[in-house]
Amino acid sequence: MCTGKSTLGHRLARNLHGRYISFGDLKREHLVLGDPIARSMQNYADRGEPIPPDLAFRIVEPHLEACTILSGFPISRPEMIRLEQTCCVVAAIHLVADHTQIERRFFARGECPVCLYLGTIENHCPEHGVKLVQRNNVTPEEFQRRVRLYEHRIVPFVASLLDTVSVLRVDTTTQDQNRVLVHVQSWLNEVR
Ligand SMILES: [Zn+2]
Repeated sequence: MCTGKSTLGHRLARNLHGRYISFGDLKREHLVLGDPIARSMQNYADRGEPIPPDLAFRIVEPHLEACTILSGFPISRPEMIRLEQTCCVVAAIHLVADHTQIERRFFARGECPVCLYLGTIENHCPEHGVKLVQRNNVTPEEFQRRVRLYEHRIVPFVASLLDTVSVLRVDTTTQDQNRVLVHVQSWLNEVR
């Protein structure tokens, strides 16, 4: 989290003539609509259970293109297996940053009160022009929950990927976004 996934994802997608999909953004879009997928997600959330891989894939599937950069999905072995039934996963990029830096970025995040667009607090929504406000889940508890999710679920998942796909680890603590993009893109050219 807060390592520049969406900035890198959007720019990579543009350069590769592909599409960037943020699983978190797609989930938020459903929640705003309050559609049947949102109700299914809510049922699992109420029971304190993670969304099953099939439901997660149903959220992603309508947006898949020939070249797609996915963020936030898959983050577990069963999700990866579900994805690979339909797609060929060629590479994974593991963005990391210093803990203090991540914490600082996490608490600086805001959202548009209208469309839930995410950005840095005090900035404005590009579509609605209103000031971004603190998100209601920007709390120390939520931060700790996400750190635990990362350590207990995502780190082992990334380790398990090493058997099947090429994985690039990039530390974004001090590198600027242009350098990260150039580095990742030249690596991807080798992999492809
Ligand atoms: Zn907005």
